[in-house]
Amino acid sequence: MINIKPIKAFDDNYIWLMTTNEGSIVIDPGECVNLIKIIEQKNIKLDAILITHHHYDHTGGIEELLIKYPYLNVYGPNNNIDSIKSRLIDGGLLNVIGIDFEIIEIPGHTLDHIAYFANINNSPILFCGDTLFAGGCGRVFEGTFDQMYESLMKLKKLPQNTRIYCGHEYTINNLKFAKEVEPDNIDLIKRYNDVLDLRKNNIPTLPSTLSIELKTNPFLRADKNNVQNIISKKFKTGINEKEIFSALRQWKDNF
Ligand SMILES: [Zn+2]
Repeated sequence: MINIKPIKAFDDNYIWLMTTNEGSIVIDPGECVNLIKIIEQKNIKLDAILITHHHYDHTGGIEELLIKYPYLNVYGPNNNIDSIKSRLIDGGLLNVIGIDFEIIEIPGHTLDHIAYFANINNSPILFCGDTLFAGGCGRVFEGTFDQMYESLMKLKKLPQNTRIYCGHEYTINNLKFAKEVEPDNIDLIKRYNDVLDLRKNNIPTLPSTLSIELKTNPFLRADKNNVQNIISKKFKTGINEKEIFSALRQWKDNF
């Protein structure tokens, strides 16, 4: 039994609560009011906290959780958050609640950003914080555009059926931008309409899958002719895929 449940936080964050037969973990608890309510109502045994990057909306709940559950393990990247007890690095393995997670360093949004990947009986999952979003990608705050591009290329190589659990409900806005980039992409138009229906009913648009991202997310499509053409027309740039990506990211920043 594996269950991965989104818990809403702030305006548009998702905290992920993952439960197996062996216990539960929480990914990126930016706050913990709703989380503690659920843990108590359902009598959940929380084993560990997993952190993707240092931003407050992903880490702000750690201290309060540790006060309530002092035995919790806190895993995360090498950063300035003192309450992270075990630091993880690229290529490392983390075994928790019976799951083997592979650590992938994905700098760009922040320099410390990591993702957690696990292939559970050919049903792979990825917790990727604010790097790959449904229909988009995170802003480049600390790293360079090249770093962010390389990080996304690492994620692009994962199995296509990987389910993507990211940190925010940004999908509608991301797909609005994607439609500006690729107005004739039929998969994208269909996805946009599906997502509008989900949000009308207040249903999360996540998890996504890598296969749908490959078809509809412009930030994974810098190798496609129609994306390259619109960028070179609009910005008179785009000799290589990194330049296409960075023009796309800057276009989205001002969208
Ligand atoms: Zn962030």
